[in-house]
Amino acid sequence: MEDTIAAIATAYGEGGIGIVRISGSKSKQILDKIFKPAKNLNGMSIVNRQLTYGHIVSPEDNKIIDEVLVVFMNAPSTYTREDVVEIYCHGSVVSLNKTLSLVLDSGARLAEPGEFTKRAFLNGRIDLSQAEAVIDLIRAKTEKSFEVALDQMEGHLSRKVKELRDDLMELLAKIAVNIDYSEEDIEELNHEETVTSLSLIGDKINKLLSTADTGRLIREGLRVAIVGRPNVGKSSLMNALLRESRAIVTDIPGTTRDTIEEVLNLRGIPVYLIDTAGIHSAEDEIERIGIERSKLAFNRADLIIFMIDGSEPLREEDYLIAEQIGKRKVIVLLNKSDLGQKVTEEQIKEILNHAIIIDAAVIHEKGIKELEDSILELVYGGQVSQEQSDLVTNIRHKDLLEKARNSINEAKQMALNSEPMDLIEIDIRQAWEYLGEIIGETVTGDIIDQVFSRFCLGK
Ligand code: GDP
Repeated sequence: MEDTIAAIATAYGEGGIGIVRISGSKSKQILDKIFKPAKNLNGMSIVNRQLTYGHIVSPEDNKIIDEVLVVFMNAPSTYTREDVVEIYCHGSVVSLNKTLSLVLDSGARLAEPGEFTKRAFLNGRIDLSQAEAVIDLIRAKTEKSFEVALDQMEGHLSRKVKELRDDLMELLAKIAVNIDYSEEDIEELNHEETVTSLSLIGDKINKLLSTADTGRLIREGLRVAIVGRPNVGKSSLMNALLRESRAIVTDIPGTTRDTIEEVLNLRGIPVYLIDTAGIHSAEDEIERIGIERSKLAFNRADLIIFMIDGSEPLREEDYLIAEQIGKRKVIVLLNKSDLGQKVTEEQIKEILNHAIIIDAAVIHEKGIKELEDSILELVYGGQVSQEQSDLVTNIRHKDLLEKARNSINEAKQMALNSEPMDLIEIDIRQAWEYLGEIIGETVTGDIIDQVFSRFCLGK
């Protein structure tokens, strides 16, 4: 935290401008060393929070590196709460690298990924869940994912967690009074009241938790595998879906590109279509291998779309694929219904009795809307409204909420059994601590490092 840190804050590549960012007590001093204002400032220093036009100049040989705008923002009203400098260079990798290297030579250290945001957290400007939202915001692939991350960054989740902690603290305070003055005749907090309070808090946590599955899918996207034997219409379906809602994607975190074919923006939900190349190929032996390979795709998928040519009787391969699908979440598309439907719903129910079945003719766009509706219904699961943006999206938060709820349930059970208050107190305090981990108030260095290691450089 003592060091002054620097990094290129914009994406690596060509652009109109690119930004080098510096944070720490030496920021201004470093800027003064390498920046020459175009206008003589008459010995005046650069004005706080005002853009100044000039050149980055190598102090050693006075060589001009780039024509830039710079801004100095003094602490504490900055992103990191430290002195911050931003240098707006031309968006060329050459200029950015040279400018950064001058900054580093002049006394800054290269920032680690996420270190600017980490400082914002460690300096108390944002809490841990807000810091986590920053990276979600940057990675968001759809408006909905962005909106949900923005809400979290604005502190919606933090506020709810803080309210829960306040409720628990109030209860803890009452219990403490009870334990401390148990001999005296002050107003008693009885077990019954404790149970009531804990139930209310537990309900609030459950309400938050009920949004977690949807939240995760909005944040991470839904992985969908389209499977079916050759010629049933898989490519046609993919094209129909993409025509309506292709998402613009540059990079997909946590996945290798070769396993993802396309990304859809399904009314705000990022949907990753997983490559099931294996199952496209026909010939016997290859088909076997294909089915083996598609198992991998199955395992990665949150949902399988199983396409069947409904205009023909079911074939051996269809049965084989159904067997592979097993108990996984599946939507069966009975395609080519324009040619007459030979396969019945009952036949499908016999092999996959949990499947959602849709009558379709994808080349005529029939069944596409129903398919999208069914996918969204799976995402929202009836618990969460599509307008809602206050969601638990992060698995770390979900785990901690579950732990807190379990501690509360244990405390409640003990209160119901009229166990001693000092024992009940331990579980309540534990719940309070778990909730604190979400916002980073009771958290270890390891967890903090883990959170920020997911960030990109320069953020
Ligand atoms: P894939 O091998 O599973 O990817 O199947 P394709 O999407 O390549 O489709 C195979 C053939 O079936 C193509 O000639 C499509 O035009 C045709 N096809 C796809 N969907 C339909 C449909 O709903 N009705 C009819 N009649 N033909 C379709």
